[in-house]
Amino acid sequence: MADKNEPIPVARPTLGEEEAAAARRAILSGWVVQGPEVAAFEKEFAALIGAPGAVACSSGTAALHLALLALDLKPNDEVITVSSSFIATANAVRYVGATPVFVDVELETGNMDANLIEAAITPRTRAILTVHQLGLPCDLGRILAIAQRHKLPLVEDAACAIGSEIRLAGGDWEPIGRPRGLLATFSFHPRKVITTGDGGMVTGGDPEIMARLARLRTHAMSLSTAERHGSAKVRFEQYLEVGYNYRLSDIQGAVGREQLKRLPGLVAARRRLAARYRETLAGNPHLTLPREPDFARSNWQSFWIILQDDAPLSQVELMQTLLARGIQTRRGVMCAHREPAYRDLPLRRPLPVSEIIEDRSVILPLYPELTEGDQDRVIATLTEILR
Ligand SMILES: *Cc1c(COP(=O)(O)O)cnc(C)c1O
Repeated sequence: MADKNEPIPVARPTLGEEEAAAARRAILSGWVVQGPEVAAFEKEFAALIGAPGAVACSSGTAALHLALLALDLKPNDEVITVSSSFIATANAVRYVGATPVFVDVELETGNMDANLIEAAITPRTRAILTVHQLGLPCDLGRILAIAQRHKLPLVEDAACAIGSEIRLAGGDWEPIGRPRGLLATFSFHPRKVITTGDGGMVTGGDPEIMARLARLRTHAMSLSTAERHGSAKVRFEQYLEVGYNYRLSDIQGAVGREQLKRLPGLVAARRRLAARYRETLAGNPHLTLPREPDFARSNWQSFWIILQDDAPLSQVELMQTLLARGIQTRRGVMCAHREPAYRDLPLRRPLPVSEIIEDRSVILPLYPELTEGDQDRVIATLTEILR
């Protein structure tokens, strides 16, 4: 029996002996930064999701920055995106000197509302940055059609969405991140479905862009370390543009390869637990639950609830009460536009749904090793509190 007082965390990475052995292998190999393990991780990642190319980097935020660098944006250029996301989404637009223009999201998916995009397009709009929020695929079919109609490149922030799937125009289920637009980005932070500690990946189909991103992550050097290392002739590198140190270590790359092997099992466990939350909470009159559109299959990186107007407790009261009973939760998706760092960015239009999600959503414990007993404790406690 699970201990009644044992705290239940909101999330927990699945890491074991395989990852420890892989890290050891990399450490003892004598090559610890962006070497053969990272190259193999990129190849295996691309093969798994059917992407033509993949470039690994140091975080999901670095992946977003690299993807936006590929767009060669200028000051005053605008990127249509969502405020309702982790702050890194909007920040990446600002890293490249462009202006994020926020559109609202749908309540039940938390994703960009495709109906609102065209009204936000101006002569300065240069791209669309959409998010597959908390692993749930956004309406990529419609968003991509709008992007194409307006000749705007589309970048997918798939930070949470490794293992999620989408079905476009009634076709087959396909992994998120192939990508469908120009580029897609992933995160391997421990809160995501697979982890390398910190880490990220950009996937894309244009070989020139991918080669440029691979250079940009390591100071835009004309020759890679591996090329210089393997050369029989002395060669000097050049620095082709202002680049960054966004390298992933080979220790992390080795761990990532083991995590990829686990992915199908991790996603299956998350889907099973999410279905149990859905079935047991569906009848609760105070809750709005996330909805998977018929074109989307989430990896359930998170399962969240939204408290309705008439709920007997506020978001913070609910979270505090659960915490007192040993159950950790997190606020659902934040709004960038309400943060001090965004005070100077005038909001073009109100974002009521984004604000409801920030104010009333709560992420429940969900990770592959969550036992049904512990999940039942979460469900029973939540149901009792909401009575
Ligand atoms: C986690 C996350 C990021 C940032 O990823 P890091 O690896 O933490 O830098 C970006 N966008 C979204 C939507 C995320 O959930």
